Amino acid sequence: MNSKKHKNFNDYSKQIDKSIANAKERRKQALKNKKSLSNEQLEDNSGRANISIDDGEHCSLKEDIVNKQSVTLCPSAIPELKNSAVFGVVTGTVDEPHVNYFKQPLPVTDELNSVSLPVTPTEVFRISAECASNNSCKHFDGQNCRLATQITTKLPVVTKTLPSCPIRRECRWWKQEGKSACMRCPQIVTDHYNASEQVLQAAKPVE
Ligand code: SF4
Repeated sequence: MNSKKHKNFNDYSKQIDKSIANAKERRKQALKNKKSLSNEQLEDNSGRANISIDDGEHCSLKEDIVNKQSVTLCPSAIPELKNSAVFGVVTGTVDEPHVNYFKQPLPVTDELNSVSLPVTPTEVFRISAECASNNSCKHFDGQNCRLATQITTKLPVVTKTLPSCPIRRECRWWKQEGKSACMRCPQIVTDHYNASEQVLQAAKPVE
């Protein structure tokens, strides 16, 4: 990572470099393991496990969410959504990703699109955005986030202690599932190209 160019992310530059290398390796493994996955699918993002809210609510508004205590946030969102912010970087290993949560969320700026190159921000970072609880999200059933339920029922606990997370007060998964979600949350990569069957099942929208 060019830390001069990406000054907002200076404190995390080593972790970001490692995260990019891991994401590139996941893409390579996906090509090797899934014979049907073409380079074109990698290019257009259709070959990955996507754990994010629906992107039908794209919004160019970039507001700092730090002081927006009343907003409920999706903790696995894409940067184009309303009130988006970066709150963690996916570290760990290629096979066992583990999120390092930032001390404070960083607002999404144009810088984010280049900082994760040649992969995408959603393979490297965890991004929060306003929860699309107005029925535009494929995971929201009108009352609950079914993705949060699936994560807590289908994925293993990966930490013994509650992660120090800067968005806990506003997080949809925390509000709904409590500690159970937080103990599983660090393994979540929003766009994972070589996800296990277990993760694919947890990410699958409920019909
Ligand atoms: S589930 Fe817990 S650890 Fe994950 S983003 Fe929400 S509050 Fe943070």
